[in-house]
Amino acid sequence: MPPAAVYSTPMTTRFRGITTRDGALLRGDAGWGEFSPFWDYDDAESAPWLAAAREAADVGWPAPLRDRVPVNVTVPAVGPEQAAAIVAASGGCRTAKVKVAEPGQSLAQEQARLEAVRDALGPEGHIRIDANAAWDLDTALVRLAVLDRAAGGLEYAEQPCPDVADLAALRRRTDVPIAADESIRRAADPLAVRRAEAADVVVLKVQPLGGVRACLRLAEEVGLPVVVSSALESSVGIAAGVALAAALPELHHACGLGTVRLLERDTVPDPLVPREGHLPVRAAVPTPESLGAAAAPPEVHERWARRLRDVAAVAR
Ligand SMILES: [Mg+2]
Repeated sequence: MPPAAVYSTPMTTRFRGITTRDGALLRGDAGWGEFSPFWDYDDAESAPWLAAAREAADVGWPAPLRDRVPVNVTVPAVGPEQAAAIVAASGGCRTAKVKVAEPGQSLAQEQARLEAVRDALGPEGHIRIDANAAWDLDTALVRLAVLDRAAGGLEYAEQPCPDVADLAALRRRTDVPIAADESIRRAADPLAVRRAEAADVVVLKVQPLGGVRACLRLAEEVGLPVVVSSALESSVGIAAGVALAAALPELHHACGLGTVRLLERDTVPDPLVPREGHLPVRAAVPTPESLGAAAAPPEVHERWARRLRDVAAVAR
């Protein structure tokens, strides 16, 4: 199946070490699907991403149980003034997810960012941090205590350490709740987190985990509260995350789906951006004009067409 479209856009802020985001869109009987594994995912690791895109395009999603989902504002590893400005411009988000453990940054810079976010959110807001598996156990113990104070209380810390055993040990020694992200989505056995009692919350992402239905099954097996997060998709991919959040039997936390503003261009004319801290549960449908405005240059289009072929071959 050749891509129906390929998009490419600069990021408004460097995030996850990338400054450009690109991906392919599929179109089928049920609608549009996004296939956009990061370039450090090989063909086999990208197969679940393709399954998610095909589910969206060919099958569609289970019926929603709610008509909007709360989302967090995402604060990259920026300075305190910019962090406050991002929260203020978030569309009413009451939860902020703040990136920490950025290479080259000091603990003092992280403290300043968290203090600025707390000021901007007010005392009632929730602040969570994401360390992307950067710390060993001892570093995590020290940092969590400092950052918990700077934030005036953390909702949770996402993937402070890479290993499930370290997450479990950390969880026994800190009052800050622990969320597992990489330990779920890049793990051979996502249920190890549950067995080790290594987390209070799990982060589920539709593309890396193979689709909305696959995530619903996993959520049931893991049996922990779920936060649905994006893989920095355009609105077409975000709509799949919204569909998952809308179909979960219970949803206690804001989701990490308010990330479209990190992209300079989107694939649809009406981007899925938060209002009053929520995203509406609806399809994201590109138009020829919106696809044209976000269209990738020919060599990038060709690269994705090739990738789609290669990943489809291993997914079979
Ligand atoms: Mg994460």
